[in-house]
Amino acid sequence: MPEIAFAGRSNAGKSSAINALAQRNRLAFASRTPGRTQQINLFRLRSGALVADLPGYGYAAVAKDVKRAWQELLWHYVTTRPTLAALVLIVDSRHGLKDPDRELLTGFVPSGRPVLILATKADKLKKTEASNALATLESELAQLFEFRPANVGVLLFSATTRMGVAEAEAIIAQWLPMAEPVRPGKKTDEEN
Ligand code: GDP
Repeated sequence: MPEIAFAGRSNAGKSSAINALAQRNRLAFASRTPGRTQQINLFRLRSGALVADLPGYGYAAVAKDVKRAWQELLWHYVTTRPTLAALVLIVDSRHGLKDPDRELLTGFVPSGRPVLILATKADKLKKTEASNALATLESELAQLFEFRPANVGVLLFSATTRMGVAEAEAIIAQWLPMAEPVRPGKKTDEEN
């Protein structure tokens, strides 16, 4: 089953974004309890797809070698996981991309698989600040790859006001396999 990974710096608002999206119909979790692979929490969506909640990075109080180990785990995950279909990167709209965000994007974007950057806490920005934040993210992306990668979307988001939640759901739902609704009483081909 395909996996959609959520990544972001500690405190960027990743858990809040996942919670806001998990209330949406197509993204609702099949179960509240995650499975675990080392430090990665895996949730199953009702469509069968998995959401991988990657450990938050960049937390200031963590020792340098621990930070490095996390970065390496994430790098390994995004560059080698064969079932990883898409990446949602949570960034604080007030702070933009930081080095570990850039590193993750560098590891994943060249695969051509879709990426959605949620510029969250946008409720904390005035209208002009929000559009400046979007423009900055766009130019940072263009700088990072020397062109604007077509497989990366950027969306202003707020878990608090639910700004961008419906749009994000629609984008992510497009990445999901179409789960056949179970129709009671319908015979399978073999039964017919
Ligand atoms: P995580 O460490 O990335 O999982 O971040 P959390 O989801 O735990 O959020 C970190 C802090 O930011 C918490 O105090 C949240 O209440 C706050 N927060 C998260 N999303 C938003 C948002 O969209 N708007 C505002 N104003 N605060 C938010």
